[in-house]
Amino acid sequence: MQYWVSGPKWIAENPINWPSSSLDSLSSPNKDIFQSAVLHTTVSDSIVEPVIPYERFSKLSKLIKATAFFFKFRDLLKHNVPTSDPDHCARIHLFHTMQQQIFQKEFAYLNDPKDNPPELVKDLNLFLDGRIAQTSVYEYELIHPILLGKHHPLTELVISDCHEKCKHLGIGATLTKLRLSGFWVPQSRQAVKKVLSKCFTCKKFNNLAFKYPKLTNLPKTQG
Ligand SMILES: [Zn+2]
Repeated sequence: MQYWVSGPKWIAENPINWPSSSLDSLSSPNKDIFQSAVLHTTVSDSIVEPVIPYERFSKLSKLIKATAFFFKFRDLLKHNVPTSDPDHCARIHLFHTMQQQIFQKEFAYLNDPKDNPPELVKDLNLFLDGRIAQTSVYEYELIHPILLGKHHPLTELVISDCHEKCKHLGIGATLTKLRLSGFWVPQSRQAVKKVLSKCFTCKKFNNLAFKYPKLTNLPKTQG
């Protein structure tokens, strides 16, 4: 019962030290129960969840602030040394958890490399071994971007944040802002298009009465 009230022991520690697998975080009696359950369910049942659900907020900044507040409150309750940069810890926690949820196959390959790496791992070599990695022209975030899942609520929040920062410009400008902000989304154009199609501000202003009129044929007298 105590486990359900207070959660696993690792939740009281610094998020950077949190286990990479939820299975390892369970105490041995619970672990046995969990393992027997996993045998009859799918792999996705062992997915790690963030301390605050991604869907709870519609803005990235609010989600990061709420997660950071959770860590500060937890440190206060546990009399831990306060985290020096809770916002940074919150970002690491949110992105790390998302990557564990989305890129299970790639994580498995990197932990135990085999002959045929997944396509995404081959693409990552562009950043790790390619020309981009050899140059000092770009900033660290640009050379080593954070990989985001194409279909994930956190990715939508990141794209939406970039879209707002570039003042609701189109797909191209949002893609550039996303890349310059240090993120990389496989098939990013589709992901950006999906988010922009749901943008309330764009819908509102692109349907005003004074928008550009439809082009008509030139009059016969002209020219
Ligand atoms: Zn917009």
